[in-house]
Amino acid sequence: MYLCILSPTMTSVSLKTIGCKLNQSESDTLMSQFRDKGFLVKPYGEEVDVTIINTCTVTHAADSDCRNFIRQAKRISPKAKIVVVGCYAEVSEKEIAAIPGVDLILGNKDKFKLFEKLESLSVVRCPLSVKKDCDSQNGNRKTKNGPRTTGHEHRTRAFLKIQDGCNFFCAYCIVPFARGNPTSLPVKNIIEEAHKLVNRGFQEIVVTGVNIGLYQYTSGEKTVYLEDILAQLERINGIIRIRTGSVEPNTIRDELFQVMRDSHIICPHMHIPLQSGNDKTLKAMKRRYTCAEYQEVINRYTSFLPDAALGTDIIVGFPGETADDFETTKTFVNNLPYTYFHVFSYSDRTGTVASQAPDKVAPPITKERSQILRQLGEKKKEDYIKSYLGKTLPVHFDNRKNNLMLGYTPNFIRVGVESEKIKRGEFFNVVLKGIDSKTRICTGSL
Ligand code: SF4
Repeated sequence: MYLCILSPTMTSVSLKTIGCKLNQSESDTLMSQFRDKGFLVKPYGEEVDVTIINTCTVTHAADSDCRNFIRQAKRISPKAKIVVVGCYAEVSEKEIAAIPGVDLILGNKDKFKLFEKLESLSVVRCPLSVKKDCDSQNGNRKTKNGPRTTGHEHRTRAFLKIQDGCNFFCAYCIVPFARGNPTSLPVKNIIEEAHKLVNRGFQEIVVTGVNIGLYQYTSGEKTVYLEDILAQLERINGIIRIRTGSVEPNTIRDELFQVMRDSHIICPHMHIPLQSGNDKTLKAMKRRYTCAEYQEVINRYTSFLPDAALGTDIIVGFPGETADDFETTKTFVNNLPYTYFHVFSYSDRTGTVASQAPDKVAPPITKERSQILRQLGEKKKEDYIKSYLGKTLPVHFDNRKNNLMLGYTPNFIRVGVESEKIKRGEFFNVVLKGIDSKTRICTGSL
């Protein structure tokens, strides 16, 4: 009887991912492994025998989302094994263990040992829903259809993991505790994985990791960097677009800009986190550059790729950030050629240097600063879109919202086109026409 969950051909599984592109990439890998082992992979939200929650812990809000999804998963599948993996599981095991219904908690180090752990778990308990679907003698599911795979093919962009971990220990960041020291995947594995993604139908690849600018893989005499990986991916038949995830400013080499400039398929788009436009705050954050050094990186980027998109992350309300410090940041970001940015309100993460810092900024002030910067970000985004109106750009469509088909241009402009004929995953040239007054996205026509 207890063989049920050990015999994957009859066990259904779903997975919910919270957090970044790296988590998404790792979730895809896990689901591929489940499929390869013959599990029945179902979309999250359907009743299953096992639910995996791949968690994030980057903010308090992320922790809270994780806890809510764990409870929701139990409501959706009351008899399922609930397995919690990932960053929140790595650093807050006790908090998760206190949630009723959690069967297994695996941090990042053990995430990919999931299958052996599931086996040992099944010896302890076997959910009734599995038992009744099993032939108790041999563990075969009583179905003629055999294993079926669903879900996870719904995205049009695939996240390709090349790197993990970070040892920068920025004062506010919990990620190094959750992900450990930097490691770079072997080139051979990355290229093999990219081929697999192409075979699954993906045409756009997003290169991802915790700190991908640290990518460095040495074999024999040769050391391979991020830009070399991009150049190798570009040679793979079937990949039409390559995008990079966020790259730390102090890890960027000019060779990266050169490879991007010379490529027809690497998107002219980078996300280069700033966090603060004030040297005092940058120092307190333990960021590894000054404003002048950051500005220099952006100058080089725009000299190689003058029309490219540029995004960033900014934290407001960091301990000790005065009104003057904030004004300096506002002026600094206003003067840089950002085409969008993400604003985060500082929140304490236990164990980080900043969580021990005095002079915490009052939440209403942080909220007000956040609103001011968000408005500035919207204005910059709008100005960038306006500079492209009347031009025709290729759009990779990924989602339908009512009568609008939505997608991205290579330079990361979100475009909506009224069309019934466009399908997800398709590319079309679109004339950019205007900005929707409600959603603020760019409108266009074929
Ligand atoms: S670079 Fe800083 S913010 Fe980014 S993951 Fe590493 S420690 Fe965190």
